[in-house]
Amino acid sequence: MAYLTKAPRGTADILPDESYKLRFIEKTTGDAAALFGFKEIRTPVFEHTELFQRGVGETTDVVQKEMYTFEDNGKRSVTLRPEGTAGTVRAFLEHGLFNEPLPQKYYYHTSCYRYEKPQAGRLREFHQFGVESFGTGEPAQDAEIISLAKHIFDLFGLSGIRLEINSIGCPVCRAEFQKALKTYFEGYKDQLCETCLGRLDRNPMRILDCKSPVCAEIAKGAPKVLDFLCEDCSAHFAAVQKYLTAMNIEFTVNPTIVRGLDYYTKTVFEFVAGGIGAQSTVCGGGRYDGLVEELGGAPTPACGFGMGIERLKLLLEAEGITFPEEKRLDIYIAPAKAEYSFEAMRLTDALRREGVTALTDVSARSLKAQMKFANKKNALFTLVLGDTEIETAKAKAKNMDTGEETEIDLRNITEEITGLLVRAMFGETEPNGTLSKLTLLNGGKN
Ligand code: ATP
Ligand code: MG
Repeated sequence: MAYLTKAPRGTADILPDESYKLRFIEKTTGDAAALFGFKEIRTPVFEHTELFQRGVGETTDVVQKEMYTFEDNGKRSVTLRPEGTAGTVRAFLEHGLFNEPLPQKYYYHTSCYRYEKPQAGRLREFHQFGVESFGTGEPAQDAEIISLAKHIFDLFGLSGIRLEINSIGCPVCRAEFQKALKTYFEGYKDQLCETCLGRLDRNPMRILDCKSPVCAEIAKGAPKVLDFLCEDCSAHFAAVQKYLTAMNIEFTVNPTIVRGLDYYTKTVFEFVAGGIGAQSTVCGGGRYDGLVEELGGAPTPACGFGMGIERLKLLLEAEGITFPEEKRLDIYIAPAKAEYSFEAMRLTDALRREGVTALTDVSARSLKAQMKFANKKNALFTLVLGDTEIETAKAKAKNMDTGEETEIDLRNITEEITGLLVRAMFGETEPNGTLSKLTLLNGGKN
């Protein structure tokens, strides 16, 4: 029965005491992307397997070892998306979005699936915030997406995070580089891992991204891609740096970054954090000018990044950044007798329609048990409906923090309670009851 009560390895339930943090992260990242002119896109959790084989690349770790692939009942091979870019490109092509004004800029929050060895910051189901821009090859676009990621880290108040950039060239200069790599790695044939041996002929650059310690050590002495850039790629890389400098964004050039996916060209970058252990890359991205064509479209330059939501959350927690609290329960209405539960429900419903967080009894509890429950739920106000209250349509709202009781007219319950809430939040100085519903919904924060 253990299978019924235990989630699969590498997955995580997000309980209410954590979900509000993720909602905050999603709202912050989505709003920031919108500031930069990105629009939200949502694509399916699964796609045809060929899309990722083509899009991510046959010789990548993701395709070779990490995909969740299965045949559906129609005997079609489908794969749970391991990343968000390939699906976005497919949607861009399928819906003819290349006919819209360019660049087309999209952002998304998606779950991703990779069969990996689970550890802190590495899951089999994880989540990404990602952005993609289609239709411009200019270095300004590379710099703009990097500045978006940076803007997001700044919004959260994160400090211990650094930006590393590199250029891995275009197919022209890449060919020279691959040749040099092949020659270099051939000298270590007896030491490379099996996967990398297979890559030697097909895509030696992938060896630079191998996680095996032996291969990683050998890779340290390998030729550096920056020495092979053509004039165009060099100029592009220099311009990206100039834009970053113009925006006061600090970076270091790290010539060993090649990124784990095959589709990258020219600019690649990572935001790396100290203090969250080995899985320290919070955000990775770059330019992928060949991908749209690879997937059947007209040549279309593009770039984007993926940010790991779980890693970002770990980082925020490690840096002690506070997440806005969930809105408090404004009021609990307690019917003293079962027959008053109808009126209690009606009043509660009326309050909710005005944006007040309200609860009443749905468990047929005694009054005493209800008050205990209201306390546990940390209600700011409680209001008891007994014989007198029902008869006179007057009741006492009790502020549970101060103990203060205020008599209110039940016929005007929404005005009365919103007035009390505003005073409880802002004190007597605030004009009574004039704050908007929205302010109340936000727990007093605008
Ligand atoms: P890594 O080198 O850590 O395996 P990657 O190069 O495979 O990362 P990308 O494919 O670039 O990662 O994905 C972008 C971001 O998604 C990463 O920077 C990371 O924050 C996050 N990420 C990738 N894989 C996982 C995972 N298995 N669990 C949690 N987050 C992940
Ligand atoms: Mg990986």
